[in-house]
Amino acid sequence: MNLQNPTLLRTANLIDGLWVGADDGATLSVVDPASGERIAEVPCCGAAETQRAIAAADAALPAWRALTARRRGQLLQNWNRLILDNADDLAALITAEGGKPLLEAKGETIYGASFVEWFAEEGKRTYGESIPSPASTTRLLVVKQPIGVCAAITPWNFPLAMITRKVAPALAAGCTVVVKPAEATPLTALALAALAEQAGFPAGVFNVVTGQPAAIGGELCANPTVRKLSFTGSTAVGRLLMAQCAPTVKKLSLELGGNAPFIVFDDADVEAAVEGALAAKYRNTGQTCVCANRFLVQSGIYEAFAARFAERSAQLKVGAGSEAGVAQGPLINAAGLAKVEAHVADAIAKGARVLCGGARHERGGNFFQPTVLADVTPAMRVAREETFGPLAPLFRFDTEAEAVALANDTEFGLAAYFFTRDVGRCWRVGEALEYGMVGVNTGMISNEVAPFGGIKQSGIGREGSKYGIEEYLEVKYLCFDVR
Ligand code: ADP
Repeated sequence: MNLQNPTLLRTANLIDGLWVGADDGATLSVVDPASGERIAEVPCCGAAETQRAIAAADAALPAWRALTARRRGQLLQNWNRLILDNADDLAALITAEGGKPLLEAKGETIYGASFVEWFAEEGKRTYGESIPSPASTTRLLVVKQPIGVCAAITPWNFPLAMITRKVAPALAAGCTVVVKPAEATPLTALALAALAEQAGFPAGVFNVVTGQPAAIGGELCANPTVRKLSFTGSTAVGRLLMAQCAPTVKKLSLELGGNAPFIVFDDADVEAAVEGALAAKYRNTGQTCVCANRFLVQSGIYEAFAARFAERSAQLKVGAGSEAGVAQGPLINAAGLAKVEAHVADAIAKGARVLCGGARHERGGNFFQPTVLADVTPAMRVAREETFGPLAPLFRFDTEAEAVALANDTEFGLAAYFFTRDVGRCWRVGEALEYGMVGVNTGMISNEVAPFGGIKQSGIGREGSKYGIEEYLEVKYLCFDVR
């Protein structure tokens, strides 16, 4: 990995403005998922280091929250500029440790920076309100105040953007933060911390601790100084963290798993639906929580859509993210690969038809072929579980009511997509889908100005948009007696 700015390759943690290792010197290996090679060693910290990071965030809080939103916004703008100026290096780090194609990594960097820019502005608009009083003797006022010390636990599939989407609103609101990045992708997080330091954030405002998930997470949840936890990751870990936060009654934002339906109605434009399907399925090799997991296709268009989608899927170039023209990188690790393989095997055993792919890629390692399966039924594992890989299972349906029922038949409720040219159906189906986000005739929905988040067991709270900063603010009501 050749970085234009080698100082972005950090192998220490940022705690209280100092770059430090684990107390016992222990380290964690960072591995390139495309080659299996070790790229770096980062500190393997636990509860003790986390405690110090929390104490540092707490110590930094009074001065940080006392700054004007404008001043905090200026520092965030500095950070935004530095992220954009170093976008090529950040993309190289993302690809090296996360495996996604370089072009996607660059896209993530720009997307990630957009949250910093957005919240630098939004911090100035955390308006309160005055409420007409029911009594002539009182005046009622509502103000918004930063929650306090916040913790962020982030996943490996967007190692940069999932941090900025949490940290930028927290800092803009006047909170201080301790981040625990995924153990697979700590280098991007540490590079972001280096740029934050350069941007001028005071010591302790933004801390990054890498290492043992359960030990660091346990401390972040149990420590009463932490007032809020924002987590993106699996539903299983989300449930655990929620339980661990119960004793200290922390506020929570959870962005968990999905099982996104992608519905194609008979009246859809096939080419547009296929384009949307490619975008919604194969981003980050199918490893995003909003990736289409179940394709529900109406009988009349089923064969045409299936044939064209499989044809296009088979053309996607598979390879290391750093190679030119690659559209599909490796899965993050052997376990990720094994899950895709198991879902494919289960579906085939129960009668699914392979339209393309269906097996590991000839490159070996963590690579799997883009795979489209037809004649998939609700009895198969892919109907219930998030595959998190380049597998597109096609289910068949006949009526709109059936499609909506199938789409909603899951405990998840993050993203859904549908394609139709009937404007009445757009409204009906858009309203009937039990999801936090719905793409109507599009497979790309995420940006910094829109609220990202799920319902049901896909999570709590929203990120991005004007709603995203509310997650880091408390409402305070002041009642004045004016006599
Ligand atoms: P994935 O299956 O996508 O890796 P996880 O939910 O396991 O999703 O990981 C998301 C984040 O949660 C990562 O930062 C990971 O280290 C962290 N994590 C995993 N287990 C725990 C835990 N017991 N406590 C706190 N954080 C955890």
